[in-house]
Amino acid sequence: MGGSDRRYTQAMKEIFALVDCNNFYASCERAFNPKLEGRPVVVLSNNDGCIVARSNEAKALGIGMGVPAFEVEKILEENNVEVFSSNYALYADMSARVMKTLSTFTPDMEVYSIDEAFLNLAGFNCSLTDYGRKICRTVKRWTGIPVTVGIGPTKTLAKIANRIAKHSAKADGVKDLTDIGSLNGILAAIPVEKIWTVGIKTAIKLKRAGIETALNLQRADINWIRQKFGVVGVRTVYELRGMSCYPLEQNPPVKKSIAVSRSFGRPVDSVDELKEAVAGYCSRAGEKLRQHGLAAALMTVYVTTSRFIKNRYFNSRTIEFPVATSDTKELIGGALLCIDGLYRRGFLFKKAGIVLSSLVSENRIQPNLFDSADRARSRRLMQAIDAVNSRLNCPLRWAAEGLNRPWKVKFNRRSHRYTTRWDELPPVA
Ligand SMILES: [Mg+2]
Repeated sequence: MGGSDRRYTQAMKEIFALVDCNNFYASCERAFNPKLEGRPVVVLSNNDGCIVARSNEAKALGIGMGVPAFEVEKILEENNVEVFSSNYALYADMSARVMKTLSTFTPDMEVYSIDEAFLNLAGFNCSLTDYGRKICRTVKRWTGIPVTVGIGPTKTLAKIANRIAKHSAKADGVKDLTDIGSLNGILAAIPVEKIWTVGIKTAIKLKRAGIETALNLQRADINWIRQKFGVVGVRTVYELRGMSCYPLEQNPPVKKSIAVSRSFGRPVDSVDELKEAVAGYCSRAGEKLRQHGLAAALMTVYVTTSRFIKNRYFNSRTIEFPVATSDTKELIGGALLCIDGLYRRGFLFKKAGIVLSSLVSENRIQPNLFDSADRARSRRLMQAIDAVNSRLNCPLRWAAEGLNRPWKVKFNRRSHRYTTRWDELPPVA
């Protein structure tokens, strides 16, 4: 074993369990409505656009993930599928209950996403499969949510184990892959694109080089991998070999949410001005996200008229990004869609705001197979914009933010920004 390999053997005793809620949003709906048990259930994205969650019965009907609802309207009708709009408040609360339940099994836990957590089971002197079953039973009893448990010596293998736990009837919800001896046959059946941290582009490159399965990748030449895919690729190969490279991260991001809102300098009644304002907030919020090395999975946009008029209107929309993002362009795109749904002609709007939530650390973004964005490229662009703006008094703006911005907050009575603006430094007499 070479020098670089030796570093990883230290952590070989680790045991990770990945607990993943099954069809989470659909299961949340079911938890409060027992009549839905055994029936096909789907949940739609904002504005009831696309299918974002499916119960197993709905999957069996051939309803795809992410497809627009109108495309499958006939299937939904003919099979009496129960259709729900998303209820993010409910899902967030159910997630908190599941995580709290899991924390009773071990204090060493990493909440990985709204419906997944890694537990550290190192040092447990019992059958891990039995323990996994106990976790499943308890979560189901306490919260009503079904979960599957995948166990392995690395996070990557725990993810694969979880996949098997879900799909194999024999596994029945729990799969333990800590016995590396039996691993080869299993890895040979896992296509590379199903491996954690392998994005769709990496998968295509790997396949072009003849690396089709997790077993091929596990046996790949490490120098070639390093050359082609850098340190992330190397880590994935080691993780498949049972050497842990991704420790449990127990400290969640400090920030829970990022909010930007302003009262307008004068009432706004045009949808275009509302959009300009909100685009500006997105630009600011994107900067804040990147400053903290975070990305957001959820965005809420709200608008409100003045509190002091008779005909008051307040409304909000929440959207979920397919992949957590810190890209201003994506934030603006989402916010503009929200405004289209929120705007009502005839109202004088006084204030608008956005709240970014479900924040994750940027280097832990969960890849999504449907993701077509070039993340590396967008990150470089954002870095360049942030670097330029940190040096300019008149920052680069996104076209969507508008130029004149007549709605802009008025700061006539604001004192000088002494510490942050060169042109507002206190004069020396
Ligand atoms: Mg899940």
